[in-house]
Amino acid sequence: MVKRTSPESPQTLLQRRSEVPRSLPPLELVLRGSLLRREIRCGKPTCHCAGGTRHPILVLSVTFPGGRTRQVTVPAKLSSTVEAWIGNYRLWWKAIEDISEINRRLLQLRQVDSASPSREGRPSRSTRPKSPRGGER
Ligand SMILES: [Zn+2]
Repeated sequence: MVKRTSPESPQTLLQRRSEVPRSLPPLELVLRGSLLRREIRCGKPTCHCAGGTRHPILVLSVTFPGGRTRQVTVPAKLSSTVEAWIGNYRLWWKAIEDISEINRRLLQLRQVDSASPSREGRPSRSTRPKSPRGGER
């Protein structure tokens, strides 16, 4: 039997799984929602917007279960920050999906250690070395 390295090999899967969290931005900097461009009237009767061009504004729109939506006006100077946070949210979500997929394959391959703790990574494990992300940033 020839042993070959396939993308499905447990070693490859474990390697890929260990690499996923390393590329993630800080969890504190995530934001779910969409940045929308809106045009509004400010309400001043003498303003140009009363009869002509409205004021462009940016709005963060967040939808909740049941279809309820919350909107928050985003100052122009914060638009790039909000965009970055929304991007971070997507990166985290993708990472969770990627790891979940890898774990599903590991489960299929019976490469899951039954003795491993269910909450691995908690600081209560004093024998554990420093968190892999601890020294970064
Ligand atoms: Zn106006």
